[in-house]
Amino acid sequence: MFLRIDKLQAELPAPKRQDPNAAAALQELLGGKYGEMSTLGNYMFQSFNFRSKSKLRPFYSLVASITAEELGHVELVSNGVAMLANGPDQEGADSGDGGDISNAPFADMKDIRSYASFASHAGGAVPVNSNSMSWNTDMVTTTGNVVVDLLHNFHLECGARLHKLRVYETLTADNATGREVCGYLLVRGSVHAHAYALALKQITGVDIEKMLPTPNIPLGKIPECQKYLNEGSHRRLYTFSPNDYKEIAGIWGNGEGALPGDPPGELTVVDGMPEGGKIHQLVGIPSAFTPDYAPEEMFEIATKLYQASR
Ligand code: MN
Ligand code: MN
Repeated sequence: MFLRIDKLQAELPAPKRQDPNAAAALQELLGGKYGEMSTLGNYMFQSFNFRSKSKLRPFYSLVASITAEELGHVELVSNGVAMLANGPDQEGADSGDGGDISNAPFADMKDIRSYASFASHAGGAVPVNSNSMSWNTDMVTTTGNVVVDLLHNFHLECGARLHKLRVYETLTADNATGREVCGYLLVRGSVHAHAYALALKQITGVDIEKMLPTPNIPLGKIPECQKYLNEGSHRRLYTFSPNDYKEIAGIWGNGEGALPGDPPGELTVVDGMPEGGKIHQLVGIPSAFTPDYAPEEMFEIATKLYQASR
């Protein structure tokens, strides 16, 4: 089962401006072939379907714990998409009603890459790629064969790194929110690729980690990765559980160190999850009927319910 914490895995800087097309580009990291929906879907169903769990405990625990991290990545990218699509939060923007809507207040939206992202989702994220094509279950591979599944996962993490790099190259400096998403996920994805390589090495004896990094550019070349490298995120794997999945230390650790191009040090397993950062408010826009045209009564009801719960 899953436990939910009301935080993001990383702190995202507030957006500087509204940029729905940058949000569409970031959607590739959510619902693209190598997006977070794909890594989540693969590891989640592989962990559900895992055979001989007790006898293969370190390998089962690896796939199971990374599943939980990927669910948090889905949450992180979704927040990034919505932040870029909506722009800076303006305090009080959700007060009062939406005013006169007869003069096409959202005329500009007809020119954005994904009009549905506004019309259907009010700038929110959905599991589609950058061209609004639905993520689908054909992206999930769960063969029941441990080596094939781990190889697939290794490929998936390398492919994810490739398209994170391309999305990163697409976003200009005024899209710091999206670039931060890319920087954080590049570090964490590198950990996952490394972990699956080490798992495959334990089973097969092949030094698959020598293929890394793929693509062949070190994290040190990417400014948004620096603080995560400095704090050692590239050497940490989390259990994402208060008590379970500690057996991953047999794979992530075991005398192995950081990859040659990254800051050196021991690989360590952390019980639990990263400290994380706050979730963006995403203030409503009454003229777009979010959370409604005239939300005051709704806010009053919520305030009373909140007070009653204390
Ligand atoms: Mn991920
Ligand atoms: Mn991953």
